[in-house]
Amino acid sequence: MLPIINSKQPNSGTTIFTVMSVLAAEHNAINLGQGFPDFAMDEELTGLVTAAMRKGYNQYVHMNGLAALREQLAEKIRFLYNCKVDAEKEITITPGGTYAIFTALTTVLQPGDEVIVFEPAYDSYIPTIEINGAVPVLIPLTFPSYKIDWELVKQKITPKTKMIMLNSPHNPTGSVLSEDDITQLRSIVKDTGIFILSDEVYEHLIFDGLQHQSMLRYPDLLERSFVCFSFGKTYHCTGWKIGYCVAPAALMSEFRKIHQFNCFSTNSTVQFALAEFLQQKEKYLELGPFIQQKRDYFASLMQQTKFKALPSYGSYFQLYSYEGLSDENERELAIRITKEYGVASIPVSVFYKQPTDNKVLRFCFAKKESTLEEAVNRLIRFR
Ligand code: GLN
Repeated sequence: MLPIINSKQPNSGTTIFTVMSVLAAEHNAINLGQGFPDFAMDEELTGLVTAAMRKGYNQYVHMNGLAALREQLAEKIRFLYNCKVDAEKEITITPGGTYAIFTALTTVLQPGDEVIVFEPAYDSYIPTIEINGAVPVLIPLTFPSYKIDWELVKQKITPKTKMIMLNSPHNPTGSVLSEDDITQLRSIVKDTGIFILSDEVYEHLIFDGLQHQSMLRYPDLLERSFVCFSFGKTYHCTGWKIGYCVAPAALMSEFRKIHQFNCFSTNSTVQFALAEFLQQKEKYLELGPFIQQKRDYFASLMQQTKFKALPSYGSYFQLYSYEGLSDENERELAIRITKEYGVASIPVSVFYKQPTDNKVLRFCFAKKESTLEEAVNRLIRFR
């Protein structure tokens, strides 16, 4: 008799990012689906990695991450958010942002705990909650502004609420938290034992002069938060799979107990390179305007098509509505456009647990101008 797995994820298929990237490759389509840049990264950084490797920095670094890199991050956090974190006890380098989120949830959640999640939600959140035996409590962001309805949040809080998950700038919608959102959040969690998981991987990709509302700015929020970041999104190297988590020492010490028996430590060589590269603040400060230009260029080109832009204030992404253009659901249409017109996108419905069809597709504009031009030339023909 062969053993049979009792699936921990009976309802999960393959993640949409892989599905659409494979489909794009099969049909030779331009891939504006999965979020990754197609332009070259900074040669200085690739040079630093090569040098680090040649210098022989190829063995394990400390399981919590290279001390020099954590110190640079503490300096960055002080500089950007006027926040003092202890590099030794409050920062852990991880193999990517998704891993940091998985680890934080696994650190905190017990079976039966409730976690407030806003939909559309990045596709790893709900499975990770469920794998830990906890229960996602789903709250839709208001359509089409994708704002949080804080009254609804208050109603959904129960004695079992263990955590609220936040993501700003938001994937897939490009909405961002405002100061008013922070005020509401503070008043809701005050006097509760609720943790916050804040996914801030797009911290620098924020546009139109808006300020990123990091949990790191607010000591009363940070004291209950795990804040997750990604170097891939900041330095155009998503394939390096390196990120970090910031949390108060008591929380981080539990996080590390999970981390040490999962990946143990993160790719060492790139940590040496990043520790040096991070000293140049302008490299991350110039990122927002650089990506905003791409959003604007793509949006101006897209005006030649029948798709209607929804606002994007941050991230790599902008949603486009096809309301009135097709009755197909989002998934069907994203697949058809990939096959027939050669442009891959992501159907936003995949980020909801309940069947939802707002007739919007997510496009990634973090691409070379020539890529965006060719994609739009193809989309103009859409009917
Ligand atoms: N974060 C990226 C996106 O939203 C992709 C991450 C992944 O492929 N798992 O497109």
